[in-house]
Parts: sequence; structure tokens; C-alpha cells
Amino acid sequence: MQHKVVILGTGGTIAGVASEGASDLQYRAGMLGVDTLVAAVPALQGQPLESEQLAQLDSKDMTHAVWQQLGRRVHHHLVRPEVGGVVVTHGTDTMEETAWLLQRVLAPAKPVVITGAMRPASSRQADGPRNLADAVVLAQEPGAHGVLVVMGGVVHGAADVRKVHAHRIDAFSSGEVGPLGRLDDEGRFQRARAWPASDGLGIAVLDGDVGAWPTVEIVTSHAGASGALIEALARNGTRGLVIAATGNGSVHQAIELALERAAWADMAVMRATRCGDGAILEVEGASAAWPSAGALTPAKARVELMLRLLQASSA
Ligand code: ASP
Repeated sequence: MQHKVVILGTGGTIAGVASEGASDLQYRAGMLGVDTLVAAVPALQGQPLESEQLAQLDSKDMTHAVWQQLGRRVHHHLVRPEVGGVVVTHGTDTMEETAWLLQRVLAPAKPVVITGAMRPASSRQADGPRNLADAVVLAQEPGAHGVLVVMGGVVHGAADVRKVHAHRIDAFSSGEVGPLGRLDDEGRFQRARAWPASDGLGIAVLDGDVGAWPTVEIVTSHAGASGALIEALARNGTRGLVIAATGNGSVHQAIELALERAAWADMAVMRATRCGDGAILEVEGASAAWPSAGALTPAKARVELMLRLLQASSA
């Protein structure tokens, strides 16, 4: 018997609609319900599916409250023995952040597949239906586990995936590590690498009032940088700071100085490279005083630091 797949809808371009005659870039995200998205895919008819509308937003506006609810619902469905995997439909703008959050919290032993679209559902070139069909195939793939992203037939792991193009259909990449696999036009999956393994922090880490979750901000190191933002954030009670660092994790000396001056505020600091590809390799030097986020993008490093602070506060 085939296991059930639960599809959780959160909005995004995959559920977006453009008005008559408008271009593919002028539309409103998060308009169609998840049931409508499923009904539009012939390959999904008659499959053992369940769907649930969890949110209806443009993922640029993703909130911690939606993340908390999403984490809980994904966890709820994963523990059901009849469920083989969960699919999440999501906007592409913050997809990599949600993927990393779910991976770090749940490290699921069943597949959790996130997908979306670069063209609205109303487009003649809509990519959502194929992406959704591919996501269900992956959610039923024997042996698949962890949080995966599938877009345009390419399967990415949560740690590696990032949005690298503003509007092209193939907007996602796993960088130098490469994708986990691909689906062909018939929906057949070919794995290229081993499924990634990691430990989860546990769903309890998302407990508690989201309004009290530690604030973690991102500051970019760039030519002509000043320490002004660091000082303002320290005074504001910010708990964590990700520096979107240059190159191999280097930080402008003005920011380094400001961080040293703001030591009284006890902000946790992490460096992530703003390069878009390549993990930071540790070398001696002033910047090495702050831990690196390895290959995580600055946006994912922000999620990582927030989760570490949440875990520390619940210990
Ligand atoms: N702004 C949209 C969103 O992230 C973009 C997309 O889904 O492609 O919801």
C-alpha cells in the first residue's frame, strides 16, 4: 500500500494569480488554495493525498508565528504511521530559510519536500503544477528523508539550497556541492548523492511565545562600512547578529571595532559569507574571534543562530 502524502499550503507564487494581460512578474502571490493547486495536476488525481491550508502569504512576509505553526503541523503529520512524507508549498523568496529551520528542528526521518514556482498559477508557463507533482513523487520515494527542495526537476538538500536568480525559472542552486538528484520529464527520480543526515533540535525548541524569541539581525560588511548599525542594535537589545562577511568570512575593521565596543551587550555573533557559494574555511585573524556559519547563506545563518539561542534559553 502506498503511504499517504500530506500537502501543506503556505502561499507563494505557486498560488499566485496575475490579472488579465499582466506579465508573469506582475501578480499577487498566495491567492489560490492548496486544494485548487492539487486539482490542477492530473498526475495527482487518485493519489493518497491530504491537504491543509496553513497560511496564505507572499513568503517575503514570512513570520516566526507561521514558522512555529508550520513546524508543529509538519511534526504532527510526520508522526502519523500512515503518512510517508509531507509536501509544503511555499514562496521562493524565503524558501531556503524555511527549509533550514525545518531541517534543524525536525531532521525528519521521512521526506519533507518544499516546492514553489517562479511563475504564477495563471501563467501559460506555470511551473507550479510540475513542481508539485515532482514533490509528491519525492515524498513517496523509498529511503528519502530530511528536508528537500524541488524546483524545475532539481532536488536540493536544505543545507545547500539557495535562491540565486531573481526571476529565471531555474532560480535555485546547491552551489559547488551540487543537487541531491533530479526528476526527469516522466517524474522518475535519479539520486546523485547520499541523503544528508543530521540531528534535530526537537520540536520543543519552537515552543514559547514567538514575541519572546531572540531577535537576530543581519549586518552586511562592505566597503565604507561603519559601526553605526552594530551600536544601534546593541542598544536595542538584539540577542544575535549575523555578519554577512566578505570573501572567506572577513569583516570590515570598523565593524570589528564596533563589535568589540558593544561587547557589554553580550550579543552572539556569527559570520556567514555573502559570496553566494563556498564554505568559509577557518584561518587565523581578527575575524576568527566570531564563529563561522560554514556554507550557510547569511539568511540561513540567521535561522541557525536564532535556533541556537532558543535552545540555550530552553536548556
Ligand atoms: N514573492 C514570492 C514569494 O516568495 C516569490 C515566489 O514565490 O516565487 O512568495
